[in-house]
Amino acid sequence: MTSLLLDHSFEKWNLGSVPKYRLEQLRHWIFDQGCLHWDEMTNLPKSLRDDLARNWDILPMELIRSQGSSDTTQKFLWKLRDGQLIESVLIPATEGTQGVRASRMTLCVSTQVGCAIGCKFCASGLDGLKRNLSTGEIVGQVLLARIQAKRRIDNLVFMGMGEPLANLPALLPALDQILSPKGLGIGARHLTLSTSGLAPKIVELASYPAQIRLAISLHGGDDETRQKIMPINKRFPVEELLNACEAFIQARKKMITLEYILIEGVNDDLKQAELLASHARRLNAKINLIPYNRVEGLHWNRPSIHQIHAFLKKVESGSPPRVTLRMEKGHDIDAACGQLRLREMNDSPQAATLM
Ligand code: SAH
Ligand code: SF4
Repeated sequence: MTSLLLDHSFEKWNLGSVPKYRLEQLRHWIFDQGCLHWDEMTNLPKSLRDDLARNWDILPMELIRSQGSSDTTQKFLWKLRDGQLIESVLIPATEGTQGVRASRMTLCVSTQVGCAIGCKFCASGLDGLKRNLSTGEIVGQVLLARIQAKRRIDNLVFMGMGEPLANLPALLPALDQILSPKGLGIGARHLTLSTSGLAPKIVELASYPAQIRLAISLHGGDDETRQKIMPINKRFPVEELLNACEAFIQARKKMITLEYILIEGVNDDLKQAELLASHARRLNAKINLIPYNRVEGLHWNRPSIHQIHAFLKKVESGSPPRVTLRMEKGHDIDAACGQLRLREMNDSPQAATLM
């Protein structure tokens, strides 16, 4: 299951008798050059390249499907060594003001195959958890997506399949490789972990040294509403979750984001908007409002545009927190987490039996 190189940070690479300076050359090829073929690493002796090719794999996965949408959001389906499928989504965005515009690439990364949390609206959790991803499978998504994109990736969001905080033993070493200037060199401030609210893990994460960003999937202002769609709320109710967020903010001196998907008739009434705004004020948090992205086979819907705007207006009234309404890109390619995999499994009985 392990990818022999990527599952260990390069300081810990151990390829038998291969000397340190050769390991540095290897690191340079893989992380700086994005070269994933032994025979192209031309400054290594042929005998070493042959030896490496016989004994070691660089990546623990391969691309089996890529889908692009009209707005050029791109979705990748990766097949892991044991046949499991995971996905990553590449989302371009043009940012900038006063005529200075820059295009930035955001990659949405998976951390598990499936998910044990079982939020009722989510495609990733439908089949439960198959397994955690290894460090190499997490880093591999970024390396391979960067090659597909043919450019650097500016932002990473851990909002693909799985609950990142339920896989910290593999995730934290992956973050080390992703953040290190000797690895992928992505700045901590450009990396966001999203969690369904595992309160004790949020507190644990507060001691991770790098200044990564944290987003909380709140999706309900009170226990009754949140519990309708997020069974995890029974274990970690809203108040306990908010307390954990406060501990994180206090330790990190860092603003967090509250994510709130809007589902018709479930959490879109104005009372919830008031509660959401009050939680955001308490935490001095930003809010991302995301109209629900329909999942095949599930009965949830996004509210009308009228209701979405009424909800937004309510959140913004009074002493307004910073709130963004995200009409997401990639709607037409099933960009919400777990959906491409779901389709692949439904379309292809062979893929489904591999699960
Ligand atoms: N497990 C983590 C991260 C992955 S999910 C978490 O739950 O935060 C990333 C985000 O996508 C979460 O906010 C999740 O609630 C949201 N999401 C899942 N399915 C969705 C859908 N069908 N439409 C819109 N957002 C969805
Ligand atoms: Fe898991 Fe996140 Fe989906 Fe909930 S929303 S089932 S935690 S991936």
